[in-house]
Amino acid sequence: MEVLQNYINGRWQASREKQTIDIINPATQVCMGQVPCGNDTAIDVAEAAEAAARAQREWAEMPVMQRVQPLYRLKILLETHLEDLAETITRECGKTKAESIGELQRAIENVETACASPMLLQSEFSENITRGIDEFMIRQPVGVCACIVPFNFPGMIPFWFLPYAIACGNSFIIKPSEKVPLTMQKVMGLIDQVGLPPGVVNLVHGDRASVDALLEHPEVKAISFVGSTSVARYIYAKGAQNGKRVQAQGGAKNPVVILPDADLETSSRIITDSVYGCAGQRCLAASNILLIGDEQGRVKDALYEAAKSRKTGYGLVDGVEMGPVISTESKARIERLIDLGVHEGAKLLLDGRKASVEGFETGNFIRPTILENVPLSGEIIRTELFGPVMSLVNLPTVDAALEFINGNLYGNMACLFTSSGANARKFRNEVKAGNVGINIGVAAPMAQFPFSGWNDSFFGDLHGQGRHAIEFFTQTKVVIERWPKEWSRKF
Ligand code: NAD
Repeated sequence: MEVLQNYINGRWQASREKQTIDIINPATQVCMGQVPCGNDTAIDVAEAAEAAARAQREWAEMPVMQRVQPLYRLKILLETHLEDLAETITRECGKTKAESIGELQRAIENVETACASPMLLQSEFSENITRGIDEFMIRQPVGVCACIVPFNFPGMIPFWFLPYAIACGNSFIIKPSEKVPLTMQKVMGLIDQVGLPPGVVNLVHGDRASVDALLEHPEVKAISFVGSTSVARYIYAKGAQNGKRVQAQGGAKNPVVILPDADLETSSRIITDSVYGCAGQRCLAASNILLIGDEQGRVKDALYEAAKSRKTGYGLVDGVEMGPVISTESKARIERLIDLGVHEGAKLLLDGRKASVEGFETGNFIRPTILENVPLSGEIIRTELFGPVMSLVNLPTVDAALEFINGNLYGNMACLFTSSGANARKFRNEVKAGNVGINIGVAAPMAQFPFSGWNDSFFGDLHGQGRHAIEFFTQTKVVIERWPKEWSRKF
């Protein structure tokens, strides 16, 4: 069984860690390789950090127009290898191939946006702030930056950070999720071909020991994290304690409000896509569906029909619309939470537990599930399930929906379905969430916008993607210069 290697200083090399864990296909339970995990990954991290620090000094001196050239080459390589990468994502992560392709397209958009860094890095200049004195700001790289990423978007999430970090003159270390390390392994094979100096981009495998090593290494100056809230909070605190800048994106429990004037056919289709896409394992998956007003029965029926007809199976099989969840533990956890919902008083309108898919009987499948009349006071309405479960809640007014949403601990996304501009405007102004959708089911910002979680969905101030990434990966220097006319020599 192949044990994955690290990529450090432009070379593939075996980890110092001898313990490994298996990489399992969640639809077939086939073991596809092994990834090093354990305390000795800290030695790998130290090697990577030192190589990255050496490389960064020269890389920062290269003009930005030259620093983006490898990104243009990477875009072409990602496009050329799209099919192969998408199949790898589906094999290790479970989502359908179409979803894997969609995720990679989002990665490519970030590479394209980072290619605008020559413009994005331009800065501010004030002439004559007082007579003979000018003041200006320049952006300089931070140093060695690292990202620690979750299992659910192995091909996209590293690209919220990597292309911007290197375009800004930093060097970079990627720590993929130990559950899905194969995609980045392949992407690194492509990065190896784009002409970056050794050490500018490095890949180190592992789990919490490698994360702690990144948080502690003095050469690592900035950490970008995406994952669950409890780990995000830990990373933010420990990174800050060690003097690093940190952006840490956490979990979510996303509400969607449907007003009686929403287009029923479109909204039920979009909302079921949002709840069940990627088997609900998206930080922007709709979860609590808040039905307002008198039309609740009709809306519920439309959602039920759309959910029931969704085809569950292996993501590489044509026509499959929803794959398995990531692990047997995750499946058991989600099923336990469905039980808890029923225990708390919700009615199981559609039960996706005990799903068996022909030919893939051992897969971690849960079919679309709907809980209705979910009580506002219970636990299930506040807990991130990260599985294909829709919770229906009846509320009398938009104000009641806003009050419920704004009392939520998370704030990753909130959406409204309506044909009323005035209600849409009120919602977008008053809702406490960082990514807002109006007649949109997955309000995922394009690469030129920040991925704006709020509350317990984000710790930090500058988010991933776009201008925020440029700011996160640079430190500003303000220069004030005095050159009075009287000092000029006559030539
Ligand atoms: P996770 O928090 O378990 O793992 C994320 C990363 O942290 C992995 O690389 C893992 O190795 C590392 N890690 C795990 N436990 C750790 C610990 N105790 N100490 C140090 N490092 C640790 O998350 P996951 O299960 O891989 O991903 C799912 C979660 O990610 C969900 O909560 C989801 O909402 C969230 N997510 C958020 C966003 C966002 O943009 N806000 C995007 C995608 C996923």
